Amino acid sequence: MSRTVVVTGSTSGIGLGIAKAFAAEGCHVVINGFGEPDAIEAVRRELEVLGGGRVIYHGADMTKPEEIEDLIGTAAANFGSVDVLVNNAGIQHVARIEDFPTAQWDRIIAINLTSAFHTTRTAIPLMKAKGKGRIINVASAHALVASPYKSAYVAAKHGILGFTKTAALELAEFGITVNAICPGYVLTPLVERQIPDTARERGISEDEVKTEVMLRLQATKEFVAIEEVAATAVFLASDAARQITGTHISIDGGWTAQ
Ligand code: NAD
Repeated sequence: MSRTVVVTGSTSGIGLGIAKAFAAEGCHVVINGFGEPDAIEAVRRELEVLGGGRVIYHGADMTKPEEIEDLIGTAAANFGSVDVLVNNAGIQHVARIEDFPTAQWDRIIAINLTSAFHTTRTAIPLMKAKGKGRIINVASAHALVASPYKSAYVAAKHGILGFTKTAALELAEFGITVNAICPGYVLTPLVERQIPDTARERGISEDEVKTEVMLRLQATKEFVAIEEVAATAVFLASDAARQITGTHISIDGGWTAQ
């Protein structure tokens, strides 16, 4: 029986990489996120040939609880249940606290933190009915340490780690594990977009943002690859990871070892 995997924010970057990895395992996958309809349909078709599972798209906006409920409901209606939930959707905004637009603060908390509450609460009854399940939250090194000018993001990511631990305790006896992945910098559109703002805030060049800010603490001096994050998600969803719950796996080139 193919497993059913829901990945939020999977039209781009890390989420797309995770969706690809599960599709290649033969899973049914529900992809989600924003983008041009033609581009999303091309991604959907590309994923479907990888492993033979079905791939459907749902456009739920992670700021809208009722759309999130419909995302999980649609997965269950199409495939019978949700076996693996990957809470990945996330956005960033770089600004000093005193200049931080309050609407951006609310949006980051909604997408990066609260959406995982809504997906999780809706998926739990489905997973409990099956007696197993996997919930994987894509957090960040910024769930463990801070950087200036990213107050909303760091607050949301620290929050998702607390939510991960609480959910793990509530669900441990139901065969459901809940874990977080904490990547360092991965060169995705989210990171590319923050380079100009970071350069402006710090008064340095865009190249220096990469070498002096992003890779400064990444001891390997390399960006993390999307495929490396995806492989960790696949591992956390495997039977071998059944006793791993309520914790996080860092993939940050040594950043948070310091
Ligand atoms: P990305 O910008 O490439 O992709 C983000 C995805 O989320 C896209 O599919 C986008 O359409 C979707 N999305 C955005 N707003 C949404 C909304 N309201 N509703 C539904 N979908 C929405 O970013 P990424 O770098 O791949 O980031 C993915 C996750 O990984 C985020 O949670 C991010 O915080 C985390 N992360 C990224 C890095 C990194 O260096 N790139 C490091 C650590 C953690």
